[in-house]
Amino acid sequence: MKAQARGVLSKESPFHAIEIERRELQPDDVLIEIQYCGICHSDIHAARGEWGEVRYPFVPGHEITGVVSRVGTQVTKFKPGDRVGVGCMVDSCGECENCRRGDEQYCVQGNIQTYGSVDRYGQYTMGGYSTHIVVKEDFVLRIPDALPLDKAAPLLCAGITTYSPLRHWQAGPGKEVAVIGLGGLGHMAVKLAKAMGAEVTVLSQSLRKKEDGLRLGAKAYHATSDPETFRQLAGRFDLIINTVSAQIPITAYLGLLKTDGALVNVGAPPEPLEVNAFALITQRRTFAGSCIGGIRETQEMLDFCANHGVTPEIETISADEIDAAWERVLKSDVRYRFVIDISTMRK
Ligand code: NAP
Ligand code: ZN
Repeated sequence: MKAQARGVLSKESPFHAIEIERRELQPDDVLIEIQYCGICHSDIHAARGEWGEVRYPFVPGHEITGVVSRVGTQVTKFKPGDRVGVGCMVDSCGECENCRRGDEQYCVQGNIQTYGSVDRYGQYTMGGYSTHIVVKEDFVLRIPDALPLDKAAPLLCAGITTYSPLRHWQAGPGKEVAVIGLGGLGHMAVKLAKAMGAEVTVLSQSLRKKEDGLRLGAKAYHATSDPETFRQLAGRFDLIINTVSAQIPITAYLGLLKTDGALVNVGAPPEPLEVNAFALITQRRTFAGSCIGGIRETQEMLDFCANHGVTPEIETISADEIDAAWERVLKSDVRYRFVIDISTMRK
């Protein structure tokens, strides 16, 4: 079946309205009429070939919410009319140790990404900047009634990518957590860490967004452009979540960790990050990474957000405004997630 989409035709291309093919419903598939899709910085890295070659036309989008319109013959979890979401993955092997544990994002065969992957049917996957998507039911999330579909969309990537490491490294009461970068992921990290009971500090390039950071739940906000920040906060944090989309001097930030503290990288710049061994060994510090979260954990995160009233700050745009929104993301001028109203794409 056909779906309307917005895609880029090359690394430098602006968005074009295109028509794409979605597969016929398989027995375990769900057809979703997409209503909203968030704009993640990963969409930009990927579409512009920063992480490796991709095929064009390229349709990004992995923060998808909508309503089920049809289900395959063997689907048991969803029915037409259900409010659902899809994040960064649409399939995995289902058999390896990681998949069986619910860590499909770490599938040893490699998970199938919502866009830019070849799926089990041999088709190149296309993401949520489109009107419809067909997804295997096991990779579809239920959106709790308390969450509006527009605000739920960014939770499917920005939400889970920050929730998962906060849980894994046990952010909670008595823990000092710092978040580097107050963008899409960063602002969710602040809200989620605060909701988990941690003490939150924002480390941003400047103090431009300080009022916002404090309103979102941080108790402190520092500019990383000021060398005094690194002196004042030395040895302060149990956990630092780095959400920055560009290369930053990791060694300087490791100095802000306590003994046994961890700096977890979720930002995915194409350039390597440099670490001085002494910044780690002198205080038994950890430098780690984390990738989105499993399906079960994503559902847990959605339910947590519904129960704690945690939702992103969004700016809703039409399909014709995607190019301009991407430029603003690249200038760190996003407050704090763009969400495309997919109804503006329907013919
Ligand atoms: P975003 O909204 O653009 O936020 C990134 C923030 O980083 C900016 O708002 C800015 O915050 C800061 N920043 C940007 N350029 C910087 C620079 N040159 N130096 C210092 N700070 C800078 O991006 P996002 O959507 O949150 O995504 C962030 C990164 O996470 C991307 O690389 C994305 O690909 C990656 N990601 C990873 C996963 C995963 O599973 N690990 C999942 C999703 C996304 P300030 O203005 O406050 O400084
Ligand atoms: Zn993303």
